Amino acid sequence: MRNPRSLNLPSAPDYVLHRARVPACLLADAPQGVPSDLDDALLIDIRISNGTVAALTPAGQAPSDGIAAVDLAGRHVWPTLVDTHAHLDKAHIIDRTQNPDGDFAGARDATSYDRMRYWRAEDVRRRMDFGLRCAEAHGVTAIRTHLDSHDPQGDISWAVFREMRDLWRGRIELQAAGLMPIDMYAGRYGDHLADLVAESGGIMGGVTRASGAVHGPEMDDLDALIDRVFTLAAERDLDIDLHVDETSDPAATTLWNVAQATLKHGYEGRVTCGHCCSLAVQDDDRVARTIELVAKARINIVTLPTVNMYLQDRVAARTPRWRGVTLVKELRKAGIRVAMAGDNCRDPFYAYGDHDMLDTFRQGVRILHLDHPHGDAPALATNVPASIMGLPQRLIAVEHPADLIILNARSMNELIARPQSDRIILRAGRRQSLELPDYGELNFVTEAKPFPREISAPQSVAAVAAE
Ligand SMILES: [Zn+2]
Repeated sequence: MRNPRSLNLPSAPDYVLHRARVPACLLADAPQGVPSDLDDALLIDIRISNGTVAALTPAGQAPSDGIAAVDLAGRHVWPTLVDTHAHLDKAHIIDRTQNPDGDFAGARDATSYDRMRYWRAEDVRRRMDFGLRCAEAHGVTAIRTHLDSHDPQGDISWAVFREMRDLWRGRIELQAAGLMPIDMYAGRYGDHLADLVAESGGIMGGVTRASGAVHGPEMDDLDALIDRVFTLAAERDLDIDLHVDETSDPAATTLWNVAQATLKHGYEGRVTCGHCCSLAVQDDDRVARTIELVAKARINIVTLPTVNMYLQDRVAARTPRWRGVTLVKELRKAGIRVAMAGDNCRDPFYAYGDHDMLDTFRQGVRILHLDHPHGDAPALATNVPASIMGLPQRLIAVEHPADLIILNARSMNELIARPQSDRIILRAGRRQSLELPDYGELNFVTEAKPFPREISAPQSVAAVAAE
């Protein structure tokens, strides 16, 4: 098989992609009579007309007279990717502020330090723009980012977000959720942030641990604080997206409390919970009861496999014993919407990453054993997160925009075995020539001067009071 970059895609507005292979879970209406392969993918012809998918037919049946065409020889074609849980505001600070030991507490403290010291608007804007250009080059067309919204950072970062959302509209659809420890909602700043989120068209967010703490046994006032977040959201008709139980401590059972609050406030279908790692280390009875309640509350779950594997079970001089991920198979079996997402990127919570949802998917399949068979796993990085975000379907379908990714792989095995760095991105049927931004553009990160606001300059990460 030749490198797909050598594929000569027609420049005409009307053309056919012959012999494209599409996972059945990524087709809205599969053409009749097409057998599926071992990966449950179908070999079809895709006709594109004026930027839109005009017809889907069994391979070899698309009309060929007078219409430009290219033979994909069975390569996979997917819709574009969706990242429903990112942190564009934190990304790419790793060269400036390291996590001293790679664990959760170190990540929290290092990020607080970097935020208080450097996150003026220009710093956030330039790193966010770098991350968005990475994502775009990888074929990501929608991102929900969480934004550290502590006082006074919230006003700064939300203003940058609104600006970037406008600038990127039509290339990457952006949503944001306000993030801060849940006890920070107790005071007047909670009202201010809720107003800011509402005025910005955002989503109510938060992390269900106390400031400066880690996820673990229930806080005394947990239910009151969760109630406060739901009340602030309900008063403004905002959806909710929380960081929940990001720990290997089985005593962290906040997902249950969030599900109860969801039912109490009539918020079924409007709440998303990320991480939920500790669910995987609780006893079977508790797991079953929690999953039943989460299904009843129609809570969406987002698993963050790369970051969980990096942060969870990290103990100095000890080899990790578990992968850190939540019970994706059990949650899905109960009918709960579960998406996979990228989370952090080159920051103290995760040192690596490139805003590439296909990389997240390839690693996630391995970490979560979403193979043998792969089944509908591709939906976790495309259509499921789109539905959680309330976006148009990320499915290949007649009358949908021809926003597609052509992969140099004829099977899921070939797709997952290589990084697919030679993938081709089509937007409205036209091949995009997108380059990844050069790391040299981030030299400003290491050259940044401290932000002189009310925070006195700390001498080290440890010197900053953890938030
Ligand atoms: Zn996160």
